[in-house]
Amino acid sequence: MDDRTRLTDALIQAAAFPRKEFRHVIIKIPSAEHADVLPSIATPFSRTPDMELGSLDRLPLELWYETLFYLDMRSLFMFRQTNRRSRQIVDSLKEYQLVISHGLEVLCALLRTELAVHVSLFEFYTSLCTKHCALCGHFAGFIFIPTWTRCCSKCIEIAPETHLQTVASVRRRLNLTPEEIAQLNPFTTLLGVYSLPKPAILRPIMVVSIHQAIMMCNRRPRARPRIQPARSERDRKYSFAGSCVLPYYHKQTGRVEFGVACSGCELARYEDREINADNVFEFSTRGRLFSENGFLQHFIQCKHAQVVWGLSSKTNDEWNLRHVRG
Ligand SMILES: [Zn+2]
Ligand SMILES: [Zn+2]
Repeated sequence: MDDRTRLTDALIQAAAFPRKEFRHVIIKIPSAEHADVLPSIATPFSRTPDMELGSLDRLPLELWYETLFYLDMRSLFMFRQTNRRSRQIVDSLKEYQLVISHGLEVLCALLRTELAVHVSLFEFYTSLCTKHCALCGHFAGFIFIPTWTRCCSKCIEIAPETHLQTVASVRRRLNLTPEEIAQLNPFTTLLGVYSLPKPAILRPIMVVSIHQAIMMCNRRPRARPRIQPARSERDRKYSFAGSCVLPYYHKQTGRVEFGVACSGCELARYEDREINADNVFEFSTRGRLFSENGFLQHFIQCKHAQVVWGLSSKTNDEWNLRHVRG
């Protein structure tokens, strides 16, 4: 570990924390269920395969990998269950092992909502290795599964692209046909608690992306006025019911990041300071998650984080700050 990595780790330990409250209002699969399932979906049988895959076995291994990499997750899952040989081939894919290791909850949610047919192993792996939110560019520790969008918590909460509504209300509001609704990949939410600040149990209900529905309407060939997104208060529980934690996997280092929040910004919030126009920087960063490198950049600018760091250790001084600035 080099000096910069050591210093980054020390800074994060002293002046940052893993913000976890958002994880409790989105899709959660109990870890006990994972523990039981993981060995069966990540490791091949110890016995040598005694069955082959027929004429498919004549394909070169490179072609196998290429095909499986672009297969949707449900088909890949089903193919793996064919026999010991197929299980051995799928398990030998490095990308499969990584998404199973770090995105098991997401895979579970995809299979249970039947959205797995819309996401390939390639897309899953690419999102796992993507650090930034596709909508705002900040660190993304989540995935919005109906449209398979790498997201941060803020965009899940407020961005129009993650706005879900019930199929019944979208059909009524936009006058969509059943065929048009089917093209929008509707899915049934999983039973769970999906709301902030008050917990609310959401029973299974079919929902769809209102953003995609409006785009579809605006592409209709027949002339009609363009539809604008409604200004009414969105029901956030539907967006939460379409979202999962998905950490960032760094290909070069193998480090896995869930994102950290700034303790300094959090403390400033609790000090009940007035947020005014001159304080835009602080306002925009509160509640945000940072990657490890992102937090380092934030720390250089955040006087609150520097105060926390200063309080945490008498030995941290200008020498350390000079090293952070590089
Ligand atoms: Zn975002
Ligand atoms: Zn800060």
